[in-house]
Amino acid sequence: MSKPLQAIRGMNDILPEQTPLWRYFEATVAGLLDGYGYRQIRMPIVEFTELFKRSIGEVTDIVEKEMYTFEDRNGDSLTLRPEGTAACVRAVLEHGLSGGGQTQKLWYIGPMFRHERPQKGRYRQFHQIGLEVFNLPGPDIDAELIMLTWRLWKLLGIGDAVTLELNSLGTSEARAVYRGELVEYLTARIDQLDEDSRRRLSSNPLRILDSKSPQTQALLVDAPKLENYLDEESRVHFAGLKARLDAAGIPYVINPKLVRGLDYYSKTVFEWVTDKLGAQGTVCAGGRYDGLVEQMGGKPTTGVGFAMGIERLLLLIETLDKVPAEIARTVDVYLCAIGEAAELAAIPLAEQLRDKIPGLRLQVNAGAGSFKSQLKKADKSGALFALVIGEDELAQQVVGCKPLRGQGEQNSIAWDVLAEHLATSLKQA
Ligand code: ATP
Ligand code: MG
Repeated sequence: MSKPLQAIRGMNDILPEQTPLWRYFEATVAGLLDGYGYRQIRMPIVEFTELFKRSIGEVTDIVEKEMYTFEDRNGDSLTLRPEGTAACVRAVLEHGLSGGGQTQKLWYIGPMFRHERPQKGRYRQFHQIGLEVFNLPGPDIDAELIMLTWRLWKLLGIGDAVTLELNSLGTSEARAVYRGELVEYLTARIDQLDEDSRRRLSSNPLRILDSKSPQTQALLVDAPKLENYLDEESRVHFAGLKARLDAAGIPYVINPKLVRGLDYYSKTVFEWVTDKLGAQGTVCAGGRYDGLVEQMGGKPTTGVGFAMGIERLLLLIETLDKVPAEIARTVDVYLCAIGEAAELAAIPLAEQLRDKIPGLRLQVNAGAGSFKSQLKKADKSGALFALVIGEDELAQQVVGCKPLRGQGEQNSIAWDVLAEHLATSLKQA
């Protein structure tokens, strides 16, 4: 016997029990973003490998060790997207969406792929919703991005479980000066650095700031601080952001070690973190990337954005017991018909109900069966009402309407008033 086929490790099926929560989450976010004037963009999930190397940076965890890269039949090197910003910038440039200084407020949703060690909250295929804003250079839009996420956490009932961490990385010029000082300080103490940090010292020294090694962290206590090297423009920008967050009443913590994993950030960086999910505590992360579009071959165009991890947010909603009870029900009404003649009569009746009650979730029994077995299926479907057509009902042109969740008595309703009756009953249920 051949071995049963399995999904790839770290790539999960989302089963029907789970999809109502996903759809609730997605609909909540989409509604919120509509309300703030963001428009959706959809990019392919595969791009030329070069795109990610150029935008994310060669010496990052993602590009060095996490990408799913393969050669296609033409011999091109392609990569399953590990994040959304690169492709979004590519699409914006390719279609001239940021030309002439046009503002764009965009969002996307979809799967991302990274070859990481799978564990709770960390998968090889995971899903993000991301926002990217182009040609708005001020702190007002940074604040808006944060404010709308704050609103989202409250809508989802998880506002008390997340904390905003904030930092400013300065302009790339300011960071270059700081980088030099940091490298000098650490080079003098290179024998005390962990192996990863030693390697990063020449390639990506800022990443050493968020090293997990306690010895390296101890070494950093007296190291030069990025905040002391911030340029005037970044300082003013950061102050403007903080003033707006204060005005909005959004609490935040300044985390000077927050540097983010990707090369392209400048000025504002932020993360929403929770202590309720163990090690995978960052549910949303982003920042400003004013140099990226130019680096990718476009005209100077400012950018700022973030991505939230859907799996982690759903885990948090479940952990905090904030899954709304009503999303579990996916059927309103279950229509039972006993016998061939009743089944034939049920067809136009069901279609009429669908015509007359917008959004009605009506399941028509399939596979025949006795009255008892159909009613059992009706109950199992989670429906609020079972409609029954047997021989007697057929003769009298009525249906039996049986409340399944204890809302009153069963009664007989004439076919011509069924839609009105049902619409009212569903509203009251
Ligand atoms: P982490 O520090 O957890 O590895 P990251 O800095 O690599 O996160 P980003 O690239 O900023 O993450 O992605 C934004 C968000 O996407 C993260 O905050 C997280 O919620 C989610 N995310 C990132 N990688 C994964 C993954 N492998 N599995 C599940 N969610 C992820
Ligand atoms: Mg990561």
